[in-house]
Amino acid sequence: MTRKPKHVAMFSGGAASAYVAYLMVQKHGRENCILFFSDTLWEHEDNYRFMFEVAEYIGIEFHRVMDGRTPEEVFDQTRFLGNSRLAKCSSELKVRQTVIFIEDLRDQGYEPILYFGIGPHEKQRQQNLTEFYEHQATEPVETRFPLVDSILKDEDLKGIIEKDWKIKLPYMYELGFSHANCGGRCVRGGFNHYKDLLRIWPDVYHQQEEMENRLREKLGDVTILKHHEGQPVTLTQYREQLESNEALLLASSEEDDTVPCVCVFS
Ligand code: SF4
Repeated sequence: MTRKPKHVAMFSGGAASAYVAYLMVQKHGRENCILFFSDTLWEHEDNYRFMFEVAEYIGIEFHRVMDGRTPEEVFDQTRFLGNSRLAKCSSELKVRQTVIFIEDLRDQGYEPILYFGIGPHEKQRQQNLTEFYEHQATEPVETRFPLVDSILKDEDLKGIIEKDWKIKLPYMYELGFSHANCGGRCVRGGFNHYKDLLRIWPDVYHQQEEMENRLREKLGDVTILKHHEGQPVTLTQYREQLESNEALLLASSEEDDTVPCVCVFS
């Protein structure tokens, strides 16, 4: 039996995935489309406001799923603290929920096609996601990236959403973060992300530091941050290093977009 295509925007609470959802609906019609969001329970509350407003503006169904555990509970249960190389929160809370959703759609006679808000500067992430979803479900899943060849930049998309759609962007953009996943707490963020977090949003940095310390008490010498050679650096050590070197703390940095995180699709 031939399955009917179902176009699925992988919604993350970011501007690019919102705009991709809009393009998808323009092309394929709202009855053939769905917004999909897998909730890690670490999202910033303003992300929910943004997601509901976008879904209402576009006029399509917003499908929110959740495992029910937070990333910290996954780290605790699997006895493995996620880091920039391996994050079981991503596979347990995001990927697993997505695969369940894909197989459910297929059981209902639909063939899902996944859409991601990946920009032209994120070719590596596009390739990672394409290869990744070829192997996760019982059959390969088609992935599409409508913004990869677009001339629209991130700033253009944000302008359209705020000025034309009249929807306020998520608070995390206002703070200066490039994406809004997991309320700034992503364990795959790396040194530059955590430096920005300490400078811009110290309370959230401290929250992560406290979580790392709780898990270190239970699991031993585990850390979120690791140097390239694998040498661990605790968030307490990194904070102390940054606090003793203001120039380093204030230096601008770019987040590493080569990290093959399947959660972060803007
Ligand atoms: S965004 Fe980061 S912290 Fe959140 S589930 Fe994905 S890898 Fe884990």
